[in-house]
Amino acid sequence: MSKIETICVQGGYTPANGEPRQVPIIQSTTFKYDTSEDMAKLFDLEVSGYFYTRLQNPTNDYVAKKICEMEGGTAAMLTSSGQAASFFSVFNIAGQGDHIVSSSAIYGGTYNLFAVTMKRMGIDFTFVSPDCTREELDAAFRPNTKAVFGETIANPALVVLDIEKFAAAAHAHGVPLIIDNTFATPVNCRPFEWGADIVTHSTTKYMDGHGSAVGGCIVDSGRFDWMAHAEKYPGLCTPDESYHGITYAEKFGKEGAYITKATAQLMRDFGCIQSPQNAFLLNLGLESLHVRMARHCENAQKMAEYLQSDDKVAWVTYSGLEGDKYHELAKKYLPNGSCGVVSFGVKGGRKAAEKFMKSLRLIAIETHVADARSCCLHPASATHRQMTDEELYAAGVSPDLVRLSCGIENIDDLIADVKQALEKV
Ligand SMILES: *Cc1c(COP(=O)(O)O)cnc(C)c1O
Repeated sequence: MSKIETICVQGGYTPANGEPRQVPIIQSTTFKYDTSEDMAKLFDLEVSGYFYTRLQNPTNDYVAKKICEMEGGTAAMLTSSGQAASFFSVFNIAGQGDHIVSSSAIYGGTYNLFAVTMKRMGIDFTFVSPDCTREELDAAFRPNTKAVFGETIANPALVVLDIEKFAAAAHAHGVPLIIDNTFATPVNCRPFEWGADIVTHSTTKYMDGHGSAVGGCIVDSGRFDWMAHAEKYPGLCTPDESYHGITYAEKFGKEGAYITKATAQLMRDFGCIQSPQNAFLLNLGLESLHVRMARHCENAQKMAEYLQSDDKVAWVTYSGLEGDKYHELAKKYLPNGSCGVVSFGVKGGRKAAEKFMKSLRLIAIETHVADARSCCLHPASATHRQMTDEELYAAGVSPDLVRLSCGIENIDDLIADVKQALEKV
């Protein structure tokens, strides 16, 4: 099998003699057939093929296949956003009356999706500290628990998850571990190698990497044995009447059941498909992901070290720093680097951080992260501005916290910008 760098550039799509070298954009809602019988076979899931882009499109599938190869999975699908990927990944195997165990250190949008919106759909979530003991983790499970969820590197807390610990607990309770691998990307961590069963991505971040296309992806390792836990997963292990009584886990096996069901049912009914044009842009980003990730990490490491040395800075969080709370876990799971995001506190609290932000020249103020261009956010004066200092502390976001996403510019220019802005504080 090829190495990750080669898969980034060439994976997913192999043109035959005389075909386009670059992934073609199949900008078509629909696909033509000679006979109704030909099309009927597709509707019965008897043969695979395309009939309507709300469910599947060839451009998307080329790009999903590349990400699948990068993660070392057996099947994958693109979604319209990372949020759609997180939603599908859980809703594909859980419904009303079910329960999920999730790390509490997850992206705020995912937290809201789980704790508010999916709760309204009748799915209960128990949030556990990523640093909990195995006993505390075991205590979170219930008879109706259907999955465990966590993030390799949590956005924005930068907590590194002990994936093996979470996988062992999930498997002991007969459920899969779903990992959001957005911040690490498969270049820096492949969660399947550590026991995860399903991986999700917001491809909007490093994978696209240029701030041009919102998107998501779900990859299946093909290792979770649904049939061995058939009583927990009736959606995969009993006939689907909407497809003439097909049983996904029987017909498509461990390798294909989960993604086929998500495509056939969830894409059909919710239609959160990525546009082929966006999938094309995503693929351009993937072609340089391995080169960009190395530079993001190198810049973030130098930035974190610089920030530690500046006496206007109260604290710095970056797992690449010796002495960081997650340094040891990062050495194990992220030996080649973690990501480009560093968080730090400006001495003087909320006011000082606001002054720092106003003084930046090169680094832009954005809610985005993981872009080729460096960007910066002060949650207390932006995304969390309605909160008092006390409420901010309770949410794990201190009033002085600045989240800095290091891009791939020259690091001396980035440090010079941060230095001059800190001098104004
Ligand atoms: C941004 C993000 C998401 C949500 O992705 P969208 O593409 O914005 O919908 C999910 N997880 C993580 C870790 C993220 O950073």
